[in-house]
Amino acid sequence: MRYQRSSALFSEAKKYIPGGVNSPVRAFKAVGGDPIFIKEAKGAYLYDEDDNQYIDFIASWGPLILGHAHEPVLNAVIEKAKKGTSFGIPTAIETELAKLAVSMVPNIDKIRFVNSGTEACMSAVRLARGYTGKDKIIKFAGCYHGHSDSFLIQAGSGAVTFGSPNSPGVTKGTAKDTLLANYNDLQGVKTLVKANKGEIAAIIIEPVAGNMGCIIPTDTFIKGLRELCTQEGILLLFDEVMTGFRLGKGGAQEALGIDADIVMFGKVIGGGLPVGAFAARDEIMSYLAPDGPVYQAGTLSGNPLAMNAGLAMLTELNNKPETFTSLANKTKFLHEGIAEVLNEKGVTHQINRFGSMISVHFCDEPVIDFASSAKGNNESFKKYFHGMLDKGIYLPPSAFESYFLNDAISYADLAKTIEAVRSIF
Ligand code: PMP
Repeated sequence: MRYQRSSALFSEAKKYIPGGVNSPVRAFKAVGGDPIFIKEAKGAYLYDEDDNQYIDFIASWGPLILGHAHEPVLNAVIEKAKKGTSFGIPTAIETELAKLAVSMVPNIDKIRFVNSGTEACMSAVRLARGYTGKDKIIKFAGCYHGHSDSFLIQAGSGAVTFGSPNSPGVTKGTAKDTLLANYNDLQGVKTLVKANKGEIAAIIIEPVAGNMGCIIPTDTFIKGLRELCTQEGILLLFDEVMTGFRLGKGGAQEALGIDADIVMFGKVIGGGLPVGAFAARDEIMSYLAPDGPVYQAGTLSGNPLAMNAGLAMLTELNNKPETFTSLANKTKFLHEGIAEVLNEKGVTHQINRFGSMISVHFCDEPVIDFASSAKGNNESFKKYFHGMLDKGIYLPPSAFESYFLNDAISYADLAKTIEAVRSIF
């Protein structure tokens, strides 16, 4: 009865919370079984209500890049909380975090803080529409930009895990302004742009995708998007909610060598507290209220607790950029170890990796877009997921998610993880 207490807590939760969870992927629907309930976490490890220990490869879906309850971040939260948690009045710390973020990320002059990645993407698109005076956007099948209406059109992550890529409740009017293209298919985007000439405000993309597993853009594709946007007066929006402050100080813009027009953040920038942000050069940001006409606001936006957690996190990363190399090396070690075992056992698979993002797909074709990601064998995935869980390794409970390594994970943890894979197949 390894999961007895978690299962009981899940039954109780289902009585009062839809599906027993406050975010769908947590329910383990794609892999079956009851979710584990977490009691506490420290460094690389999660501890569930049945006192099982897990090496955590999700890190709260990305934010905890330095591990759980990381001392400097933890202390920043505790110390700030003693002085009040929210005022709805400007504070010096908002500027401190803004200044640091702007200094780390290329190509941005100003940043506005919100409370989630969803809000960041939703507001960025409104800003892009206000700035360009155009209505339509292009998004890519399998990319997830939060649960705002315009984005729930063939979205990845939970939206596809649950088989409802186009959610009821999204109006036809909203859906018609979101045009869909395939990841890594530049020609498809060009065709859409031609057919909607002068009507497209923005192309929004996960510059390295993580919501259909990890998918890497080809050089031709991402460079081509940049050129096309510049030629056509379309803004290129990089959703760096996953990649920002994870792929390096400057995120995917820096890692890929591509300048975006608006960049959205979430996850790491809040150090594990609810923070999102969007940023751009001054010319674009000046369209935002109160300087400009595009409205956007938030009661708890920029609250001192969240800002101090974010400041502690970004300060650590800024002072120790070797963290990004360490993470990438660990991820490479994991990749090579898992690949060796799966090859040895003759298990058909593909592994995609970029920096500290990685995913294992049980299929034989390269995974380059949503269609190829969806071809993975879900039975093999379930066996893999549950086998690993039973061995104390916590992986994303859906093939449409990337792992996020945290730097508290040791090489011994990785070796244990690779051995766990060996014991399953
Ligand atoms: N964009 C991307 C790329 C994401 O991965 C996510 C969440 N996983 C979001 C936006 C939405 O962020 P949030 O869940 O904080 O609203």
